[in-house]
Amino acid sequence: MKQSQLFTHTLKELPKDETSYNAQVLLRAGFIDKVAAGVYSFLPLGWRVMEKIRQIIREEMQFIGGQEINLPTLAPKENWQKTGRWESLDILFKIAASDKKEYALNPTHEEVVTPLAGKFINSYRELPFAVFQIQTKFRNEKRAKAGLLRGREFTMKDLYSFHADQVDLDRYYEQVIQAYVRIFNRVGLGANTYLTFAAGGSFSKYSHEFQTLTAAGEDLIYICDKCHLAVNQEIITEQSVCPQCGDKDWRKEKAVEVGNIFKLGTRYSDAFALSYSDKNGVKQPVVMGCYGLGLSRIMGTVVEVCHDERGIIWPQSIAPFRVHLLSLKANGEAEKIYQKLGQDGIEVLYDDRDVSAGEKFAEADLIGCPYRLVISQKTLIQNGVEIKRRVSQETEIIKFNHITAYVQ
Ligand code: ATP
Ligand code: MG
Repeated sequence: MKQSQLFTHTLKELPKDETSYNAQVLLRAGFIDKVAAGVYSFLPLGWRVMEKIRQIIREEMQFIGGQEINLPTLAPKENWQKTGRWESLDILFKIAASDKKEYALNPTHEEVVTPLAGKFINSYRELPFAVFQIQTKFRNEKRAKAGLLRGREFTMKDLYSFHADQVDLDRYYEQVIQAYVRIFNRVGLGANTYLTFAAGGSFSKYSHEFQTLTAAGEDLIYICDKCHLAVNQEIITEQSVCPQCGDKDWRKEKAVEVGNIFKLGTRYSDAFALSYSDKNGVKQPVVMGCYGLGLSRIMGTVVEVCHDERGIIWPQSIAPFRVHLLSLKANGEAEKIYQKLGQDGIEVLYDDRDVSAGEKFAEADLIGCPYRLVISQKTLIQNGVEIKRRVSQETEIIKFNHITAYVQ
């Protein structure tokens, strides 16, 4: 894409009330726009990142048999009353329709997916199965001050699984853990993300959270690097050594919860009378699991973890473009390289604008594409382009026909 045609541009002024780093840099670089506290629009650059995260998650959910669906944002009050959450969930947005009926703006979808499953499950032969969606959620968060880490409107992947018994749920739950590990590796957070024991299992003793270490996080977790165990502070009393291996490096760190998986058991099946007939024709409650993952929170977390004083450093897998091509008064040649890379399937943001070299360099660092290519009279004399990785300070000159292989 040509930068001259991008309808957005980088900003010098930021909204005064924006205090979180991830939102500040994403606003400044033109990835998002702020509509209200915890409510953001995704602009072309930001949407490309979200789409890449979405595709990685979609592939991994399909790999473990998840069938993609899309559930509505609105659900009638009665659904939420059935589980008692119309009253008990403080973050629930409630709205009234013109016929005076009340609705929830869904913050999660157990109240919709459980009755849906009830329309299709009759016999044990129809189990197990799992459905997922990547969809907008609404939560009336009190403190929406952490940018994309805590939205009042945000994108979540939620997967729900339906089983005949707990053994089968346990089996699938392990598969989901492995899928989540692959997702966090693929989006570039693998090294900083810990599978963490947490409270909140309505059926099992614990739920599991995936927590990424960052000072921007609101959670405190204990971690042991020796056995890679982590425990959320909320379920553990002061402890100086790892409870599993006794290691003394057991330490407390700030972290953000990027994913959370639960064994729901029959909590929601009971509320909606979701049952199946077993081999003997006896009715049994369906056993459920639910598995959440915040896409916009992942994007914000990557920005918190992967940046320097000049801007964002996107992992290749989710960068808006692989290459940022800067033309310094050499648009004729730059255009040819832009066309060629496009033909080779490389995503390029081409800075063809008539602005100073300094401005182009600063913006390339701010936007944070993995490779910066510079073409100028100086590089043309050497029959090539200057190439630099965003993560490194070193530059080198490479020949035109070597670029594709270099950046692939
Ligand atoms: P938190 O404790 O941070 O409020 P939660 O435990 O209420 O989150 P879950 O209900 O477990 O959140 O939601 C599943 C996932 O959705 C979370 O792991 C997180 O990645 C994401 N998520 C939850 N709330 C938000 C939010 N307000 N903004 C962005 N992402 C969110
Ligand atoms: Mg959670």
